[in-house]
Amino acid sequence: MTTSDQARANGGAPQPSGAARPPSVERLLAAARPRLGDRDHEAIVVVAREVVAAERERLGGGAAARGLEALAVDLVDRLTGFDGPPATEAADDSAGGPTRVINATGVLLHTNLGRAAWPAAAIRAAAAAAAGPSLLELDRATGRRGPRSRVVEEHLIALTGAEDAFVTNNNAAALALSVGLAGRGGRVIVSRGELVEIGGGVRIPDVIRRAGARLVEVGTTNRTRVEDIEGALADGGARLVLRVHQSNFVQSGFVESPDPAGVAEGAHRHGAIVVDDLGSGALLATESFGLAHEPTPRERLAAGADLVTFSGDKLVGGPQAGLVVGRADLIKRLRRDPLARAMRPDKTTTAAVAATLALYRGGRAAHEIPLWRMVATPLEELRARAERVVGATGLAGAADRVAVAQLRSTLGGGSFPGETLPSWGVAVEARSADRMAAALRAGEPAVIARIEDGHVVLDLRTVEPGDDAALADAIARALASVG
Ligand SMILES: *Cc1c(COP(=O)(O)O)cnc(C)c1O
Repeated sequence: MTTSDQARANGGAPQPSGAARPPSVERLLAAARPRLGDRDHEAIVVVAREVVAAERERLGGGAAARGLEALAVDLVDRLTGFDGPPATEAADDSAGGPTRVINATGVLLHTNLGRAAWPAAAIRAAAAAAAGPSLLELDRATGRRGPRSRVVEEHLIALTGAEDAFVTNNNAAALALSVGLAGRGGRVIVSRGELVEIGGGVRIPDVIRRAGARLVEVGTTNRTRVEDIEGALADGGARLVLRVHQSNFVQSGFVESPDPAGVAEGAHRHGAIVVDDLGSGALLATESFGLAHEPTPRERLAAGADLVTFSGDKLVGGPQAGLVVGRADLIKRLRRDPLARAMRPDKTTTAAVAATLALYRGGRAAHEIPLWRMVATPLEELRARAERVVGATGLAGAADRVAVAQLRSTLGGGSFPGETLPSWGVAVEARSADRMAAALRAGEPAVIARIEDGHVVLDLRTVEPGDDAALADAIARALASVG
């Protein structure tokens, strides 16, 4: 053993840089051995190599050697970092798993934060499905293979009045499968006002092309009438009229879009079918929450649509899924499409969607689905919580740098564009709003705020009340760090 080896083996007084080399993987493993438990050796070696490589790079940059003990701790930390969330709520928050996040943006369905939080019943159902065998594809009466997702489909039929229903892994998949009903080279009529980009760069004309169908554009960007669609249908050959809900943008001014019932009547007269992509697809009356009326799948089916598609994780407020309801013969064709297999949800999602839809059937959606609970939170309650959070920061009155503020929340997730809900929250005046927002994001838990008029604002409508105390702490810590 050389002297420097001894120094390192001793747990390491930092070495003068230059001469220093990282320990070998073998020596690192020997030092960490008692703390590695029964982890798989191959996996340990891969991570040990990463630790050694990182140390080599540090030393190459002229840094002082970290010593064997510090590297062994690093190795164990990296390995335990893969262990997933702690087993109980009470367990140490920092032990692995994704960083806990408080959404104080006031955007209820924040796509970058994973959209809707699942209702508790959906989480329980997914956990049960994940933990053991389930009757997912077994028909209990016959003991033979039964249709997957039948429970979900039955809920959808009951909630929308459809003949049948089908579930995919997201609405983009539901839309692509449905457009495929036009067949190879089949013509698909779409209003120019509905040739939209639905997010993530996915555009309706591309979806139609990829399905092998031919797009027939009708009307103009701002105005399309039933007669425009009838004209294209009269030219012959169109198999499908696609309606796409303008869910993520607003058109105002000199605009006109065709009446759904008129479109369906025209399409059926010419032997075409109507697919109505609602995007958000609310299952309850949005106007009773002070929002605009969002068309429901039930009313579009009643107006003659042959199929209606919508998302599970927008206004339904559950897991990501694509929900299709409508005519039994068409649903049967979707089910038989070989691509349907590539688009089906897994068993945990299936169980969670079923549990979410069951809440609507039992009349508990407004109370149990986090999205609707947040939408329905009374203003007075938000104001009282905001006052308590400001008080708990211990900074109230500190030259009014932390104050209660009247805010506006938005739905987000490509729904209700331009619409806002009144809300209350906290406004913080920091020396730099950007740095304050960054400090909040970097904290544990991470707090995501927004910046308005040079202030960092934290909207309580999107914060779970149980997180209020953690939020107050986070504000105080972040403000102390940036001034
Ligand atoms: C959001 C949206 C989609 C895509 O739904 P995902 O579930 O995100 O795949 C499709 N069409 C419309 C109109 C939408 O608003």
